[in-house]
Amino acid sequence: MSNRTLTMIKPDAMKNGYAGAIIDMISKAGFKIVALKQLKLTAEKAGEFYAVHNARPFYGELVSFMSSGIIIAAILEKENAVADFRKLIGATNPAQAEDGTIRKKYATSLGENAVHGSDSDENAKIEGDFFFSALERF
Ligand code: ADP
Ligand code: MG
Repeated sequence: MSNRTLTMIKPDAMKNGYAGAIIDMISKAGFKIVALKQLKLTAEKAGEFYAVHNARPFYGELVSFMSSGIIIAAILEKENAVADFRKLIGATNPAQAEDGTIRKKYATSLGENAVHGSDSDENAKIEGDFFFSALERF
């Protein structure tokens, strides 16, 4: 089992000024920040990150949203990181997310849902490598 996951603070949460509060929640939940950067994805890179969803009806909207503004990407470390982080962020649709989760508190809508969290150890590694070079994730 891996002890790392990859998160993004998405453009809605960045624009709404929630980055600091979200990072605070992540830290207080016991995740160590291994790597962190602020950047803006191009539509091409956003499309590459979400390529697994390219046949879904919301893909175009997702790519356009994820390249619409600045994001923060971070690698987080904790025992059972992938599952524990998915629990901390809550359901994809904030209307269905449990009270106290990041998406319940800070998401805008189903599409603009404040944060990303990897869904498996394998994808956590792929996604960490997408954003960070070997020199940045030690
Ligand atoms: P999660 O981010 O919870 O792992 P998915 O991997 O299923 O969710 O979807 C990736 C992202 O695509 C979601 O976080 C959300 O931003 C967007 N998305 C998912 N489903 C929909 C939908 N039905 N309509 C619009 N956007 C969606
Ligand atoms: Mg997912």
